[in-house]
Amino acid sequence: MPGKLNSLNEPIQIAGAGPAGLAAAITMARAGRQVVVHEAHAEVGYRFRRDLQGLENWTTEQDVLLTLEQLGITTGFEFLSCRQGTVFDAWDQAYPVHSKEPLFYMIERGPNSGSLDSALLSQALDLGVEVRFNSRLNKLQGPGILAIGPKAADAIAVGYHFDTPEANGFWAICDHRLAPQGYAYLLIMNGKGTVKSCMFTGFKQEKQYVERTVAAFKRLVGLQMHNPQPHGGVGNFRMPATALSGGHPVVGEFAGFQDTLWGFGIRHAIQSGVFAARSLLEEKDYDIMWQQALAPLMKTAIVNRALYDLLSNRGYRWCLRRQEGRDARDLLHSQYRPSLIKRLLSPWARARVRSQRRDQSCNHVDCSCVWCRRCRADAAESAAG
Ligand SMILES: Cc1cc2nc3c(=O)[nH]c(=O)nc-3n(C[C@H](O)[C@H](O)[C@H](O)COP(=O)(O)OP(=O)(O)OC[C@H]3O[C@@H](n4cnc5c(N)ncnc54)[C@H](O)[C@@H]3O)c2cc1C
Repeated sequence: MPGKLNSLNEPIQIAGAGPAGLAAAITMARAGRQVVVHEAHAEVGYRFRRDLQGLENWTTEQDVLLTLEQLGITTGFEFLSCRQGTVFDAWDQAYPVHSKEPLFYMIERGPNSGSLDSALLSQALDLGVEVRFNSRLNKLQGPGILAIGPKAADAIAVGYHFDTPEANGFWAICDHRLAPQGYAYLLIMNGKGTVKSCMFTGFKQEKQYVERTVAAFKRLVGLQMHNPQPHGGVGNFRMPATALSGGHPVVGEFAGFQDTLWGFGIRHAIQSGVFAARSLLEEKDYDIMWQQALAPLMKTAIVNRALYDLLSNRGYRWCLRRQEGRDARDLLHSQYRPSLIKRLLSPWARARVRSQRRDQSCNHVDCSCVWCRRCRADAAESAAG
């Protein structure tokens, strides 16, 4: 079986040095295995250079930083504990959002020092992992793990990175005119900012949504952007029937592991990377591991997404009013808890959310289905500039 470890000296090949691939490499190296990570670009976090993101802290009771420590993954990156922020409705009404424990940890992505990616890279290198940059791996020979990120756009987040004199904080706006079926957000940490429209449809009009998002944050919170740099990326969500391809574990967003409601993928990426490595080390069934740990959350997220898709701006306003005075982390945690009603809604939600995909049966590896052909065309196009 290609995914199986035959000898203790046989190096493990990992394709992709994102959070999923590096978490897998770290887990392997901690167990004393030889690991080679192939990264297509010249640095880690290439597609996110300078992006501010949130390491969500609401899906589990346990704090995510403690979870990472227990998984043996570094928490030696810079972060901002986010306990209070503001969400606006489509009528400019502000709703304070607060939680006793951090709702999420704001982090930086990309190769800069202090970022999540550079901390994971340092931990991997310290453990003796070999990382080969500018090395694109399209096929695994021998045991290995596939961690090469998204293959299609189920959602996109587009906007700017910038410098700013403004204080740290987070803000969001729920308004279809700015971010159809999604949300617009503004994150500021230590003089750096990210403003984005995260949209789940209407990709063709992305420019118009970004312009409206920037204008709204200028009006609502006096956003000041110095040296703005355009930035955007895609998110891929799916619940695979299997996350094995040719016997190799597929991890992170390449497998489609991500929160379908709002596009938070870092936790699933790291966890699936650790599970994949453990499955090889301990000869366990990777599919069973991720299905036990990640699938329940992913299933409730799909139901949450299907329900969110039904909301108009008035619906968003109703939800925002309903959360007033409540602890946001507790509230979100309860929304992600599997329940009878979520189980009953699951087939409807999966059919509804799945219907937006081009091909839900494909695992995107060594295949030439319409979706993959399109993705390869996209990749060639972006490589060409
Ligand atoms: C704009 C934006 C904002 C986001 N914000 C958040 C957020 O706030 N919170 C959150 O939790 N999630 C967020 N996400 C999602 C999150 O960033 C991803 O889910 C996460 O990075 C997935 O990690 P990964 O390791 O699976 O993939 P990636 O981070 O994409 O890493 C894959 C790596 O593989 C490399 N690669 C690709 N092909 C090959 C190949 N053939 N050979 C070798 N290397 C290859 C790539 O260069 C890349 O470095 C956001 C996504 C976007 C687009």
